[in-house]
Amino acid sequence: RSLNAFVGGILPSAAGAAAASDARRAAAADGGGGDRAPPPSSPVDGAVVAVKDNLVVPGAPTTASSRALRGYEPPMIATVADRLARVGAVLLAKTNMDEFGMGSHGVHGVHGACVSPWMARGQEETLRGPRCAGGSSAGAAVAVAAGVVHASVGSDTGGSVRLPAAYNGLVGYKPSYGVVSRWGLVPYCASLDTVGFITRDVADAATLLDITQGIDPLDATSVDADPRTTRLLRSLGSRPSFHMRGWRVGVPAEYDACEVSDEVRRAWSATLRACEDLGAIVCAVSLPHTRAALAAYYTIAPAEASSNLARYDGVRFGFGGSRGGLSDDGGILSDDGITSADAASDARGKGFGAEVKRRVMVGTYALGTEITSAYFERAMRVRALVADDFAEAFGTKPRRGGGGGGGGGVDRRNLLLGAVAPGGVGAAPAPVDVILTPTTPTTAPLLRDVLATSVPRSRASTAAFAADVMTVPASLAGLPAISVPVGLGADTGLPIGMQLIGAARGDVGLLTFAAALE
Ligand code: GLN
Repeated sequence: RSLNAFVGGILPSAAGAAAASDARRAAAADGGGGDRAPPPSSPVDGAVVAVKDNLVVPGAPTTASSRALRGYEPPMIATVADRLARVGAVLLAKTNMDEFGMGSHGVHGVHGACVSPWMARGQEETLRGPRCAGGSSAGAAVAVAAGVVHASVGSDTGGSVRLPAAYNGLVGYKPSYGVVSRWGLVPYCASLDTVGFITRDVADAATLLDITQGIDPLDATSVDADPRTTRLLRSLGSRPSFHMRGWRVGVPAEYDACEVSDEVRRAWSATLRACEDLGAIVCAVSLPHTRAALAAYYTIAPAEASSNLARYDGVRFGFGGSRGGLSDDGGILSDDGITSADAASDARGKGFGAEVKRRVMVGTYALGTEITSAYFERAMRVRALVADDFAEAFGTKPRRGGGGGGGGGVDRRNLLLGAVAPGGVGAAPAPVDVILTPTTPTTAPLLRDVLATSVPRSRASTAAFAADVMTVPASLAGLPAISVPVGLGADTGLPIGMQLIGAARGDVGLLTFAAALE
C-alpha cells in the first residue's frame, strides 16, 4: 500500500532553486585552479529535503492539496526553499497535506489520505489497519519517517508540524512567529502561519533554523536572525554530555485533561522524572486560558482563512470553474448575465473541499455581521489572555510597580504530574525556562476511524479539533515549540511526542533544552 506521502517531484533544473548550484558548478568547472573561491561547505550540501505542497518551488505545481490551485505552476520560490537550495540542499519532492493546511490527520485533500508507516503493536490491533499520519504536514512527516528524505519543510499554524512529527516518532519544530520567512507559503491564517521543520533529531532542526532564519524583505513580519544559533550548533556538534542543571521546567496542570490517554500521561511523567534526573527543577505553572484557546483558535483561523481564500475567485489561479474571468469593472461578465460573483462562487464551489468550505462558512459567520463579529472579538481577547498566561509563566510580562510581584521564591515541591494541583492552585511564582507537555493527547488514531468521522457534516468531525488542544496555545502566542520523540506508548506501541514550549524568541534556549532531552 502506498503511503501517499508525495504529490509530485521537483524538477532539479528549475529556475531559482538552481541558482546556487549553478554557482557551485561553475566553481567546480574551474577545477579549483581558477581565481574563484571554492563555495563554502554547508552542513546541508547534498541533503535531501521534501517540501510541503503549500510552499512554492518552481519545477513543480503547487496545489496545497486543493482543486482550486489545479494547474498552478509558481514562477517564484519560497524564501525558505531558496535559502536551503542555495547552500546545496536537494529539494526532492512536494508532500501531501490537508487542503490549505486545514486538518490534523492528513485526510482532507485532493490527493487522498496520507498513511503512517507505523503499525500498532499486537496482532489483532495490527489487523485493524494502518494509522493516520497526522496533519496537516502529513506527507512531510511520512517522508522522513520512511527514510526517503533527511528532513522536510512544513508549515505549522496550530500544530501541523508538531502533531505529525509526534505521531511518526520525529522532531517537529515550529520556530517563533516571524523567525522564518513566510514568503512563498500559501496563506491559511497569516497571523498564525509559521514555516517549520520535521527532522530526525534536534541538531538537524537547529541547522535548518540557522540556514533559513532572519529578515526577508519579502515578508514584512520576518524578524532578525538570532546570532546565538551558531554557538548552539557548535555545541550540538561536539555533543557534550547534556545536563539540565539550573533549568526550570513548567508543567501546566490545565494540559492534564481527560482526553490524555494513560500511556501518554505515563510518558509525560517519565519525561519529567528524566528531566529531574538531569538536574532540572520541575514545577507547576498555571495557564488558565488553555481550554478557551482551542475555541479561540477555531474561530480566528477560519475567520482569517475566509478572508485569505477570497483570492480563489477563478481568475488568478488554476481552477476557473466553468465561467472564470472578470470584467474590468467587476460587473457583468458575459452576454448571458453571469456576474463576477457568480463566477467566483462557481470556482469556489467546485474548487474547495468540504472541510475548507466549512471553515470558510464558520469564518465568514464569525466576521459577518455586527452580532456575529462578537465571536471574533472575543476570540482575539482570549488570544491575548493566552499570550499573557505564557508571559506570566516565563516571567517575561512587564511587572507593574508595587504589589503584584509574587517574589522570587523557588518552588521546589516535587510536582510530578499526579501531584500537580488542578486549576492552577499553588502555581509556581518563579518563572520557568521551558514548558513541557505532551504534543498530542493520544498516539496516532486508526486511519479508518479518522476517515469515518471526517465528513464535515457529521457531528463527530469536530472531535478531530481535540487533537490540537496541546499545540494551539503556543501558536496563538507566537511562541517557539518543538515536539521531541520520547519512545513508544506502553499500550499501542506507537510513538509519543513531548512538546517543549519556549518564551518569545527563545528558540535557541528551547533547542538547547530539547537536545538535552533527546
Ligand atoms: N489542525 C489545525 C487546523 O486544522 C492546525 C493546522 C495547521 O497547523 N496548519 O487548523
